[in-house]
This record gives sequence, C-alpha cells and structure tokens, in this order.
Amino acid sequence: MKMVIPDEVLRLMNKLNEHGYECYAVGGSVRDALMGRPVHDYDLTSDALPKEMMKVFRPEYTVLPTGIKHGTVTVLSGKWPVEITTYRADGGYSDHRHPDSVTFTRSIREDCARRDFTINAMCCSADSEILDFFGGQEDLKNGMIRCIGVPQHRLDEDALRILRAIRFAARFGFTIEPATSAALFEKKELLAWVSEERIQSELTGFLSAPHVSAYLTDYREIFLQILPELSTVSTERWAELAESCGRCKADPAVRLALLLYDAEKPESIMRRLKYSTAEIRTVQALLDNKELPISTRIDMRRCMNRVSCDFEQYIDFRCAADPSLRKDALTALYRTVTEAGDCVSLKDLAVNGSDLKAAGLSGKAIGTSLHDALEAVMEDRLENTKEAILKWLL
Ligand code: ATP
Ligand code: MG
Repeated sequence: MKMVIPDEVLRLMNKLNEHGYECYAVGGSVRDALMGRPVHDYDLTSDALPKEMMKVFRPEYTVLPTGIKHGTVTVLSGKWPVEITTYRADGGYSDHRHPDSVTFTRSIREDCARRDFTINAMCCSADSEILDFFGGQEDLKNGMIRCIGVPQHRLDEDALRILRAIRFAARFGFTIEPATSAALFEKKELLAWVSEERIQSELTGFLSAPHVSAYLTDYREIFLQILPELSTVSTERWAELAESCGRCKADPAVRLALLLYDAEKPESIMRRLKYSTAEIRTVQALLDNKELPISTRIDMRRCMNRVSCDFEQYIDFRCAADPSLRKDALTALYRTVTEAGDCVSLKDLAVNGSDLKAAGLSGKAIGTSLHDALEAVMEDRLENTKEAILKWLL
C-alpha cells in the first residue's frame, strides 16, 4: 500500500522543502494509509523551528501558534488544519506523564524515537518515500503493537502509553508484543500519575473500538487499575461482562454501562472520571432500567415510558447484557408500538392537567390521577379517550 498525500498537505511540505527544510507526514496518517484505512488528519514533522515555519508560511497561509512551546504550529490549508511540529527529543519525565523539557533536534530519527509504538513512528516524504527506523511496517504486517525501545522505560516516561497500547490493539485487532504486554502489567501502578480526564478519554476511545472483549479479559488487571471500584467483580463475571461488550455496537456509553452493570455506585465512578453530565445521564438511564420486563407490547410501552435515553441504545444494551433476548424481535416490537402510536407518556394521554382541573380536581390529585390513568392506559386496562379516562377517574 502506498501513501497518497492530498495536494493541500503536499503543498505545505513542498514549500518547506523549497526553503531547505525537511518535512514528513508522520504518525497516525502514515499508519492508517499503509493499512488502507481512511486518514482523518495529517500531522507533519519538520526540522524547521516554529519561527522558521511562520516565516515560510506567512502571510500566504493562516498559521496558528497552537503549541509553540512544544514546537507545534497549525497551518490552515484547504479543508485541512495541518499540525506541523519541529523534530523533538523529549527530556526526562519525572511525573511519568509529561517531558520535563523539550529539545528541538535536526534528526528525524530522534523525533521518531520519542514516539510510542513502532506503527506510530513511520514517516512519509513529499515524494512518497517511507522512513521506518523501528520496523513499523513489519509490525503492521504482523498486527503487532510494540513499544519503541525498552518498554519499561517508555512506560516509565509516560504511563498513558499503557492505555494507548490497549486502545490501538483493540482498534485494529492487533496483538500486543509479549515484552510490551508484560511491561503494561508490570507498570500498571504508574497509571496513578495520569489525570482522570486522560484516563476517561482513553477508556472512551478503547470502548469505541471494534474489538474490545478479548482485551478486556486479557488486560483485566489494567482495567481494574483505572476502575478499582470493580475489584469485587469476580473473574468469571468480568469475563461475562467483557463478552457482553462484544455483543453491542461500538458505543462507549452502552459498553460502559455493561462494565458497570454490577457496580454499586456507577454514577460516582463516572464522576470521578470526569464524565459529562449528559454521559452520566445516559449510562444511568440504561442501568436504572436494566431489569424491566421487555418481552410483551405492554412491557415495551412501560420501558419506553421509563427510559430517558435513546431507545435503540437501550435495546442494544439489554440484548448485550442478556443473550437470550432477541434484538430483531425487540426492535420489531418497538416499531409496532411506535408506528401504532401507543400511549407511552403523559403527552400521549387523551387528558391533561387542565381537563382534570375543569373536572374539579386540584393540587396533588391532578398529578397522581394523570399518572394512574397513564399506567392503566399503557396496561390496556383503560381506553385512551377523554370520556373513558374521566369516567374512570371520577
Ligand atoms: P489517532 O488516529 O487516534 O489520532 P494517532 O497516531 O494520530 O492516532 P495521536 O494521539 O493523535 O495518535 O498522536 C499522534 C502521534 O504522536 C502518534 O502517532 C505518536 O507518534 C505520537 N504520540 C502521541 N501520543 C504519544 C505518547 N503519549 N507518547 C509517545 N508518542 C505519542
Ligand atoms: Mg491523531
């Protein structure tokens, strides 16, 4: 597979080259292109210093100083905002997360060596020449995630790489090379140095990947490191939960709800990991209703009434959690209820608060009566007409 760099990006690379600088596409774009996958953004790397890049591109292009300290500028070219970073060698990492210092270098090899995995450290020049110092192409061919250099050292530097390794493996269905894999376990406690926000975004990225079940099982100890609240879940149960994550869509909210299925306080776990209120609400809506009967039309109406998140997500969740439920049957039942316009909420009810007020009810009685009538209508005990409901209530 050859890498084809789009013209808008190529133009920037050529411009740097014309001014005597080196410039390569690097990282994810090269990896994805060589795998024949769509490329969503292009990161460039160059021996030009940020100041030199500004000189080359301004005023023809808009150049945003997005990360000058780390050597990064963003150049707007056509539909692509392209990040260009000066070749870098990262200094010590005393907090197991961020380099203490960043030194610019003129060596592309050094810039590649600071990167995490062999498959993420390949470069492509403007004339499609691939630079691959660490065997990235071979590892791509063999489906292998491998740290560059000594894995223990690389994870000591930045513990986030522990989660990145598992996320990339799950995205591509790759194996984690044995020495790298052993180091992930050995260094798992270093995850304590990683911020909750970063852990959350890696976890979400992982749960959005196509292949998660096997990695959840194989790397259980690492997941427990970031979700210690689940330590009481037995190994057998964990394996079931992991398997259930393979039965639904690659939806991180549904999968998180599956993982937190037995958790005592799922909400507080999500809060600790800095999930947004909306994300917490979705997972909570799934878990709060995890045991509602769902097999008959009346059950289905009640579920639709109770569940406040997207209903297809809810069906996906229920079917993943319980393999005896048939997704096609539930989806068909849901369609029947929707298409027939069955009453499933107060707004579908043939009477409202004002009707009851006019009929002489007041205060709390209005709310309870509406609620009772809705339940009766959903259960087919009462016809959904104004006349029948008022007669039933009064
Ligand atoms: P994605 O498709 O998920 O964006 P990506 O490879 O582009 O994949 P990014 O997180 O965007 O990943 O990072 C871009 C590149 O920067 C990586 O390919 C890798 O070379 C390098 N990189 C990113 N994070 C790290 C890290 N924590 N340690 C070392 N290198 C890293
Ligand atoms: Mg990227």
